[in-house]
Amino acid sequence: MIEIIEMLAPAGHKCRSGRKLTGFRGVTIHNTGNTGKGADALSHARYLRGGGKDAAASWHYCVDEHRATRSIPETEVAWHAGDGSGPGNMQTVAIEICMNTDGDLRNATENAAVLAADILARHGIRNAEGHLYQHHVWSGKNCPQMIRAGRPYDWQTFCGKVQGYLDGKEKDMTEAEAKKIIQETCGFEDQTIRFLEAYRYHEALLTKLAAAIQKGGK
Ligand SMILES: [Zn+2]
Repeated sequence: MIEIIEMLAPAGHKCRSGRKLTGFRGVTIHNTGNTGKGADALSHARYLRGGGKDAAASWHYCVDEHRATRSIPETEVAWHAGDGSGPGNMQTVAIEICMNTDGDLRNATENAAVLAADILARHGIRNAEGHLYQHHVWSGKNCPQMIRAGRPYDWQTFCGKVQGYLDGKEKDMTEAEAKKIIQETCGFEDQTIRFLEAYRYHEALLTKLAAAIQKGGK
């Protein structure tokens, strides 16, 4: 995972809705629209703690080539999608990708893919399809403007990268995690699990089963 620096915007200001997400649909991807030198993840987080704190515009994460900053808790609504009380704002977590001219767009975008995969995995989502959104789908805004222009690569490539990171996590799934997923989803008795364990198909039957269940169920 990339480094995430917690720099929460101050509560009680307009950029903090104080409202809980009404569900979790996935992650909305943005580009900051800010090409200014030094407009990196830290400077965007500082903005939400200073000059920007009383504007109704905010985001959960901002990512550059070095790190991510978290400005709004993941469970709280941020004002990023331009759809008012619609699903973009109410049910997705926002990642802003930096595009400052003195930054590295490719590595910043890659870090965003890593972070998006991490957020989806934490919500039990192993198949990214249908859970990654461009800001554009919520409000028609040309955002993420760089990705939409194919920089450093197009949307389909970005989604493929997120899926690649999710698949990588699957390999890291421990047998204990796999057991829990299978038992909770299929209601198998301990005895059945022991039978499956004994039947060590390519040494990773449980992980494969658990991953298939998650992919199929979401
Ligand atoms: Zn946007």
